[in-house]
Amino acid sequence: MGRRFSRALFIGRFQPFHLGHLAALKWILKREDAVVIGIGSAQYSHDPRNPFTAGERVEMIWRVLRAEGLLDRCVIVTIPDTDRRHALWVSVVLHYSPPFDRVYTNDPLSQLLFREAGMEVRPIPMFNREEYSATKIRELIARGESWEHLVPAEVAEFIKEVRGDVRIREIYGALSSGRS
Ligand code: ATP
Ligand code: MG
Repeated sequence: MGRRFSRALFIGRFQPFHLGHLAALKWILKREDAVVIGIGSAQYSHDPRNPFTAGERVEMIWRVLRAEGLLDRCVIVTIPDTDRRHALWVSVVLHYSPPFDRVYTNDPLSQLLFREAGMEVRPIPMFNREEYSATKIRELIARGESWEHLVPAEVAEFIKEVRGDVRIREIYGALSSGRS
């Protein structure tokens, strides 16, 4: 008897999409037929936690999926956040995403909110979290240190193409000079 087609949601901010995200995505795709990649906090950009626009994040992830031959198994959607009105967030996600059967995330608040809404939530193993952390990658870029080995080649290329590295240094520089 054929198993029913399964689609999962993998949600994050992907600021930027790094090798830990790619390993997590491949791990999920071993267990599900298809994945919705939900780009959260979509309305933010040009700030230290969220330097890239939703469109830039779509582009970097799309290029990785194309290079990995995964475009036919993934859908990318952008999802705004609800500015701390956490009780509303799951309904916003459901409003912006095609249907999915379960959610993969390690974020404790996302796990709580989806579970309260009656959805199945599964954790993802962390891959080399010491290095594969978007916060750490943004800090390396801001300090002018080497970061390219921590993201897929397509992401490093894209960030340079849009001068995202320069942008991050400017955003962090503005912060440390008190202009925020
Ligand atoms: P930030 O430091 O900006 O929060 P992040 O590296 O935690 O970035 P997110 O966009 O917050 O990345 O994460 C999206 C999803 O990917 C979350 O469920 C997160 O737990 C998971 N994730 C992040 N890093 C890894 C990793 N190294 N291995 C596996 N999953 C990861
Ligand atoms: Mg995170």
